[in-house]
Amino acid sequence: MNQIDDKLFVGNYIAATDRQLLTDNHIRLVITVCDFRYVSDHQMDGIEYFVVDVNDTEWADLLTYFEDTRRKIANTIARGDNVLVHCRAGVSRGPTVVTAYLMATNGWTYERAYQLVKSRRSSVNPNPGFVNQLKLYEQMNLRLDANYKKFRRHILTSYMPSIGHKFILKYFERRNYVENLFTISMGKQYHCIGCGKHLFNETHVIENNVTTADVDQNGDQYCNKLYIEPQEWMAMAPINDVIPTPVKSLVCPNHLCVRSIGQLISFNVFVCHCPRHKSLSCLHIQIFCDSIVKKFI
Ligand SMILES: [Zn+2]
Ligand SMILES: [Zn+2]
Repeated sequence: MNQIDDKLFVGNYIAATDRQLLTDNHIRLVITVCDFRYVSDHQMDGIEYFVVDVNDTEWADLLTYFEDTRRKIANTIARGDNVLVHCRAGVSRGPTVVTAYLMATNGWTYERAYQLVKSRRSSVNPNPGFVNQLKLYEQMNLRLDANYKKFRRHILTSYMPSIGHKFILKYFERRNYVENLFTISMGKQYHCIGCGKHLFNETHVIENNVTTADVDQNGDQYCNKLYIEPQEWMAMAPINDVIPTPVKSLVCPNHLCVRSIGQLISFNVFVCHCPRHKSLSCLHIQIFCDSIVKKFI
């Protein structure tokens, strides 16, 4: 276990189970950034445990937890108590959470916060996915901004690599969580052209950032489709079935309408090559533009 600043420590799971060490250092909050089974048998009275059970993989999402961990650490330190953030080895996950906390609390860049953590614990080495998430946090001005397209893409690609019921529910849980952290604008509404049902918003549309000028210059053609993030009204079953069945029809959720409005397409099967969509890789939910109307609200 290493001391990062006055009241903040980072370590491995063994530190989190060492009663003497925790007592001697006045630790009152333990943030476990791994499977809680590493410490659950050694819980101590008088210590609060906060668990973020995330794997140490490049595609794991740690970024959407930065606000919760920041608040927990800040509240404990404000009370005059000390905090230990740990993972299994104290190399990647725990140090990432500590780096994010230092950035947000001091208004520091990733580089500055990371250098401090590294200088206090030389084994620190966050995986490249977590480094990218810390840099994205910096780009969002140290705030989980649910309107920031690259952040939304991060959430989507973190929970979509293996599509299944568990992943899609977790995706909606994390996306809803960040959308409710701060007041955000969801943008224009898109409605079914048949019955007028509200289907999704501008913020859910996935596309490359291309200007009309880029397109004119290259002589490229836009397609007549939109790609969007999954919506909770899309029945879970069709999304789960995307892998075995590459293309599934998507219908309006109004059961009196059920107009065909698009398709769910396995991400391995199809990529649109138009400038707006080329190189997009994730679950494809393709909406037919002539089946929807845009409303300015
Ligand atoms: Zn409809
Ligand atoms: Zn396209």
